[in-house]
Amino acid sequence: MDRYRVKPSHPVKLVDWDPDETGAFDGGKNDGKDILDQLTEELEELQERLYAGHRHKVLVVLQGMDTSGKDGVIRHVFEGVNPQGVRVAGFKVPTQIELDHDYLWRVHNQVPAKGEIVIFNRSHYEDVLAVRVNQLVPDKVWGARFDQINAFEKMLADEGVTILKFYLHISKKEQKRRLEERLQDPAKHWKFAQGDLKTRERWDDYMVAYQDVLNRTSTDWAPWYIVPSDKKWYRNLVIGSVLVDTLKKLKIEYPQSGEDLSNVVIV
Ligand code: AMP
Ligand code: MG
Repeated sequence: MDRYRVKPSHPVKLVDWDPDETGAFDGGKNDGKDILDQLTEELEELQERLYAGHRHKVLVVLQGMDTSGKDGVIRHVFEGVNPQGVRVAGFKVPTQIELDHDYLWRVHNQVPAKGEIVIFNRSHYEDVLAVRVNQLVPDKVWGARFDQINAFEKMLADEGVTILKFYLHISKKEQKRRLEERLQDPAKHWKFAQGDLKTRERWDDYMVAYQDVLNRTSTDWAPWYIVPSDKKWYRNLVIGSVLVDTLKKLKIEYPQSGEDLSNVVIV
């Protein structure tokens, strides 16, 4: 999965990244499902250790265009984990109070504590994406944010946060299909916002903005992964694999009891 990681010194061009690819998994969806089942089981065990150990902190950032599957990843990849110790923080259009503060204020407040995994459904990256495309602040203001974000994430990493960032890469064509599906299914109407069509009109501007984000904020301490997301099962598999690999590398052991339990008898 390392080939999906954006290396700091190797600029990427998004047009070269195929949203529809499924890597080496030519076994297709069914094989993919089996592997994902295995991954979710492993994730469950790793998260249990992380929670018990109460030392490491993990931050997962999900970004992507509407319908790219941020909600789906949360539902499927994190299916088996214990809700005690895993939290989702979603970032919508900022409230007035949030706007009265600096853009990292609401974000910093949600970062993981010891033993916790926190998933960001959108994030501070909206402040160089939606904010940039919609010209909500002057160029100079959003332009300075890449360095600020890198410094912020470096501080978090130095304080023990493992950061993984996923850009869910879908094609404009696949988004059309998914938006139409939402329109046709009354159970999905709540997810359909007419504003999403405005965002879709600015597709190319968003791709430029995303490309800058990937090239300017993928660091050794907080890497971006470009996740091919036209196929939902492959998207889940890539993210699940990266998560499991990363957590395994932390080598988290269950904490030892401070007491000698060898002679304890339960009567
Ligand atoms: P959703 O994720 O579908 O609930 O939509 C949330 C909306 O909030 C998206 O259109 C985002 O672009 C928007 N949003 C999130 N954060 C910001 C921000 N900092 N500034 C402007 N818009 C934002
Ligand atoms: Mg939406």
